[in-house]
Amino acid sequence: MSEQAKNAFYGGLQQNLEKLREQGLYKPERVLASRQGSEVQGEDGRTLINMCANNYLGLSGQEWVAQASIDATEKYGYGLSSVRFICGTQTVHKQLEQAISKFLGTEDTILYAAAFDANGGVFEPLFDENDAIISDALNHASIIDGIRLCKAARFRYAHNDMADLEAQLKAAADKRHKIIVTDGVFSMDGTIAQLDKIVALAEQYGALVMIDECHASGFMGKTGRGTHEHHNVLGKIDIITGTLGKALGGAMGGFTSGRKEVIDTLRQKSRPYLFSNTLAPSIAGASLEVLKRLSESTELRDRLHENTAYFRKEIERIGFTIKPGTHPVVPVMLFDAPVAQKFAARMYELGVLLSGFFYPVVPMGQARVRVQLSAAHTREQLDKVLAAFEQAGRELGILKN
Ligand SMILES: *Cc1c(COP(=O)(O)O)cnc(C)c1O
Repeated sequence: MSEQAKNAFYGGLQQNLEKLREQGLYKPERVLASRQGSEVQGEDGRTLINMCANNYLGLSGQEWVAQASIDATEKYGYGLSSVRFICGTQTVHKQLEQAISKFLGTEDTILYAAAFDANGGVFEPLFDENDAIISDALNHASIIDGIRLCKAARFRYAHNDMADLEAQLKAAADKRHKIIVTDGVFSMDGTIAQLDKIVALAEQYGALVMIDECHASGFMGKTGRGTHEHHNVLGKIDIITGTLGKALGGAMGGFTSGRKEVIDTLRQKSRPYLFSNTLAPSIAGASLEVLKRLSESTELRDRLHENTAYFRKEIERIGFTIKPGTHPVVPVMLFDAPVAQKFAARMYELGVLLSGFFYPVVPMGQARVRVQLSAAHTREQLDKVLAAFEQAGRELGILKN
């Protein structure tokens, strides 16, 4: 490569990065010097209450989960150096697949290295140009990418808009198979998909239903099975994808769950499964232990929802505006991007870790900080966080009261 060609390439990257920084879109990484948990140490030694992890059940960094992963490592070793179908399947992987199926109320489950891969590899083996995929406009990036890899016709309905979903189902009427795809819960607003209505429309128009349960598995619904339990449509969802990297332990790993013939087809044809390494046995073993405990008791799920209800009530009482709802994702609306940035920085100084979101991640004028509750938060920690919100809110003059 000539010097000139090199400069054009590397110089171009530098310019693009500089532009991101100027637009305030550059994402720096926060470095933690401790385990993940409701309280963490920053790299600077500061102790922070963590309000921005997907650690809904408080299992990341939890002693017994770490011990279960150590036990599995001792029994099954560090890794497989293989894909599943050559010599990468151990009893612990089969046990985990069965446990996930039982937990979700499905027939069978296939594991992936991440939910990103589960979504990336689910459409192409099952649908072709004769079929239609009807997708919520705000679905996760991995669903969008998965759909791109598939030849099926694409239909997009306005976010959470059932009238538009019906219009798209009509537009797709002449297609062979139709599938409606939605996040079970949308992580920016904590919006819960209207699965009861979606299932009814699917039945009316002869479509399948797929949900991505990354922000739901383990804690939505009476016994934590997910959005399908929350909306009383257990057994009526055709395909469920999810992650082991959020509520269910927090390491990594993903899955797709559904009817036997779907899962078997994916084992034969899904590229991120066929051409990528087996999930580490430590993760499979720890996830198995997590599902066992969550099936025995709803204590963590109950504590999470108590914490969520308490925080939602108190933050409004103080004088903040939140997006209404019941999910542990609580968007605290600050509307103005510079205010949201200042607010998150001030909260950090006050010992609270949370993240600000502003345009283009959320619509213009909708800047916010997003709080995520955890079962691991104590009442004392939540009260400290609320006091910090009140102080920062007063200082910046944004309280309604
Ligand atoms: C986090 C997330 C994913 C990706 O999960 P990973 O297991 O981390 O790859 C996919 N879909 C949704 C809705 C998510 O929130």
